[in-house]
Amino acid sequence: MTNNAFEDAKKQLRQAQAVLGFSDAEYDQLANSRREVAVSIPMRRHDGSREILHGYRVQHNMTRGPAKGGVRFAPNVDLDEVRALAMLMTWKCSLLNLPYGGAKGGVNVDPRNYSDHELERITRRYTAEIIPIIGPDIDIPAPDIGTNEQNMAWMMDTFSVAKGHTVLGVVTGKPISLGGSQGRAASTSRGVEVIALRALEKAGLDPKNTTASVQGFGKVGRGAARFLFDDGVTITAVSDMYGGLVNPAGIDIPALEKFVDETGKVVGFPGANPATGDDILEADVDLLVPAAVEGVITEENAARIKARVIVEGANGPTTPEADAILNAAGKMVVPDILANAGGVVVSYFEWVQSNQSNWWSLEEVEDRLRVRMNSAWDDVDAYAEEKGLSLRTAATVMAVERVLAAHNMRGLFP
Ligand code: GLU
Repeated sequence: MTNNAFEDAKKQLRQAQAVLGFSDAEYDQLANSRREVAVSIPMRRHDGSREILHGYRVQHNMTRGPAKGGVRFAPNVDLDEVRALAMLMTWKCSLLNLPYGGAKGGVNVDPRNYSDHELERITRRYTAEIIPIIGPDIDIPAPDIGTNEQNMAWMMDTFSVAKGHTVLGVVTGKPISLGGSQGRAASTSRGVEVIALRALEKAGLDPKNTTASVQGFGKVGRGAARFLFDDGVTITAVSDMYGGLVNPAGIDIPALEKFVDETGKVVGFPGANPATGDDILEADVDLLVPAAVEGVITEENAARIKARVIVEGANGPTTPEADAILNAAGKMVVPDILANAGGVVVSYFEWVQSNQSNWWSLEEVEDRLRVRMNSAWDDVDAYAEEKGLSLRTAATVMAVERVLAAHNMRGLFP
């Protein structure tokens, strides 16, 4: 979304380089994508007019396994944003010990302005253009902002028709009726909850005496708000892309969910007062969960963030400059590659199930997700304490080190 998301991702890689001391040549290899594809998507609108949309698929790294990452449909998608998000996927998969590299895709389109039929055509044409570079052993897309299980069903169908047989393992985040996994839809939110509870524990905060603000009420923020509400956290501020709400006494999240199901937005909910985006980020709370888009906590507003603990549900919500300000102010910032990894962890479980045609129960999925998230937290927290690093630098260093080790064992071809 921001123009400099890729520059920000590279700054984070430089910080890992400063700790690990790898060469500039190794930095260059990690700073550049392995493969980038840009496609045109010619589109016939309902009224018969034509337009050309622009899409991308970037495979940042494939050293530890096939590339993995979502596909975003949003109006600000560009190549640099997709590059940044692909790099973050490499670190996320490495940190969680998933046998994947990182990728990301995107189409520059505002899905709110298109009918379902039009979105189906866009999804199928985008998929058709990237068929040569995706597949269960090559690169496995998944949902992200602006896409959902329906888009994944269309992608799977388009790929399967081209191959002449059903290929369930080509995408994850599929509907349950089509080889999806139990627990995938809520998995990112569930992971955010697990990590937020660990972070609160480390900060000495009891969830039942904790207030929280959640930016974003979509695939990540809504579930995170609900799960934390169920844990006894008082959610005093929430927002979605249309506006925000505050209620210092706490927002009834199940009631808000019902309201959003009926109206499509949080704005107008009777149990809270209207608020701006800044009110949500700068709310006087213990815990802030930015769960919308990248680049929202910046140099400009970081000093006004009051929360002691920030758990990144979104990818890249904090710029490196803002991160430094928050660290200097003694805030605990739990980075995206740890906090929101629950989605790709259950994507991995879905891929394993799809490839084996062997399905797990919801309990099995959730138990395995909790084990992975808790052990990633333990590893990052211990490493950060041992080396005196922030959680973000510790997580990035651990992830980059594994990728580098794999690079060096494989060597260079030819
Ligand atoms: N889009 C999600 C993310 O950013 C999930 C990616 C996936 O499951 O491959 O982590």
